[in-house]
Amino acid sequence: MAEEIMCIGCGAVLQSSNADAAGFLPASALKKAQENPENDVYCQRCFRLRHYNEIMPVKVDNDDFLALLNSIASKKALVVNVVDLFDFSNSLISSLKRFIGKNDFILVGNKFDLFPLNSRQSKIKDWMRQEANRVGLRPKKIFLVSAAKKKNLAELISYLGKQSRDKDVYFVGMTNVGKSTLINAIIDELGDVQDLITTSRFPGTTLDKIEIPLDNGHFLVDTPGIMTENQLATHLDAKDLALVSPRKPLKPVTYQLKPGNTLFLAGLGRIDYLKGAPASFTVYAARDLYLHRTKTENADEFYAKHLGELLVPPSDPDKIGPLKGQEWHTEGKSDLLFGGIGFVTVPADCVVKTYTPDGVGLGIRRALI
Ligand code: GDP
Repeated sequence: MAEEIMCIGCGAVLQSSNADAAGFLPASALKKAQENPENDVYCQRCFRLRHYNEIMPVKVDNDDFLALLNSIASKKALVVNVVDLFDFSNSLISSLKRFIGKNDFILVGNKFDLFPLNSRQSKIKDWMRQEANRVGLRPKKIFLVSAAKKKNLAELISYLGKQSRDKDVYFVGMTNVGKSTLINAIIDELGDVQDLITTSRFPGTTLDKIEIPLDNGHFLVDTPGIMTENQLATHLDAKDLALVSPRKPLKPVTYQLKPGNTLFLAGLGRIDYLKGAPASFTVYAARDLYLHRTKTENADEFYAKHLGELLVPPSDPDKIGPLKGQEWHTEGKSDLLFGGIGFVTVPADCVVKTYTPDGVGLGIRRALI
């Protein structure tokens, strides 16, 4: 077997089997490195970071990640939990409090560009705070940004600048929340850190973190993204994920439903209207997501027959689990949440049942719009 070679940037063992893991190098480049042991070699991630100033995500499982978080507790740090506003409950790291010790943390809600243009920021922040409080988290501050569209970044950067005078800033997040995009956008805005980026290995673990030095001697630290089975993203391939992930601000599509009606959100979401008066159900999702109304009594058969064909995504029905549902009674006007897909606004006093594959990403909140 070939000898192990380390990346001279981050110290990870070079490998060509998993592009998402630390130390990845395409097989041909790895072979070249093995044949020329005298040369210095960077993994793909460090290479891109050095030459293009671009952070590439590395993914780890929860246990490794918690070990990393644990080591933050003993330092003076500000922890930034980047969350996806469209998959909030799955991207809030509820165990954060136990691991960061006395350090403060803030929530940065990303993908704000997708919210309909008339959304009120204060309402969204109130909802985020309530959800965080519900799992015992007390964020010091909440920001709404769009990393991709570089919206609302100035306020966040100015806050981080002040906070980093006496501590390092750690970015943590589940995969797919847009953490890499956000850090790249921040580096871009900061401008002259270009030549200063260093990578360093996290002591005592096989993980690497990336440190971005600031003028004041402190660092912005990127940590690997954590994967979870509760994210729709981990169940879909890249093509399907692109189909459900909204790119433009969500546009409402309204259906008049009465009890006994079912609405499908492609093959990944379902709402049964169980009890209530005839009402408007307004879907906020990707513009070209296929929506289909039918009678609840025919819905199971319809789903079995058309999944993967009319009801796509998923393009491969075998990749997702069976639909699992949860019943809700709306007290006021409410949003039914389908994590990673969008939400459906329904009036007060409706009894509904919502479904996703394995019940992943289901939830409810007071209507935001
Ligand atoms: P990471 O795994 O947390 O590092 O996430 P990435 O930065 O790789 O982004 C995950 C996905 O979210 C990609 O498809 C991005 O294009 C998308 N994304 C990231 N930031 C934004 C944003 O501000 N708005 C929108 N609409 N999409 C975003």
